[in-house]
Amino acid sequence: MKILLIEDEAALRTALMGSLKQAGYLVEAAADCAQAYEKIGLYQYDCVLLDLTLPDGSGLDLLRALKAQKSPAGVLIITARDALTDKITGLDLGADDYLIKPFHLSELNARLRAIIRRRQFQGQQQIMFRDLVVLPELAEVQVRGEALTLTKKEYDLLLYLLANPGRVLTKEAIAEHLCGDAVDAADSFDFIYTHLKNLRKKLQEKGADNYIRTMYGVGYKLSHE
Ligand code: CA
Repeated sequence: MKILLIEDEAALRTALMGSLKQAGYLVEAAADCAQAYEKIGLYQYDCVLLDLTLPDGSGLDLLRALKAQKSPAGVLIITARDALTDKITGLDLGADDYLIKPFHLSELNARLRAIIRRRQFQGQQQIMFRDLVVLPELAEVQVRGEALTLTKKEYDLLLYLLANPGRVLTKEAIAEHLCGDAVDAADSFDFIYTHLKNLRKKLQEKGADNYIRTMYGVGYKLSHE
């Protein structure tokens, strides 16, 4: 799960980044509109945490830009402004939810989970695919009722495939999803093959064979048979 945090207050940004990383999210940050525009122009995010008052512009304009480019990212507004008009404008523009500063980190985590669940799996409490059941709230995976132990990256990879049924995911898209823009520096995508190989092996050991199909030269997709 990849999050873009747009917040100009350095102390709050650092605290939020630490907390979100600890909660298992991949987090990138922007301190102003210029950095944020660059990020949303280059990368896809699952959710954007958006401060409205930024030194070089309004977060509402960033929200308009996200919606104009038909970004699938959820948007959670975090703002010190409790002006009713801003909240209403934000929600009218398509933000999913808002939090007024100061807020508890546990509250932020709960709202984020709800947004991502709603966006990715239409609010389902469990995701089913062939013999697989995934409980995203608990980060649990079962094959025919038997628990499957996955690493964080393997779990993220499986969820990414499940969130895109029938779509071929390129290795570039998978790398970006798993590692964020750190992937710019990576010379090869070998690490993806390793995660894929291990995920397939673990699935296979539980009898879930041939769930991930390789489309040679293109990418990977879930297989229904
Ligand atoms: Ca601010």
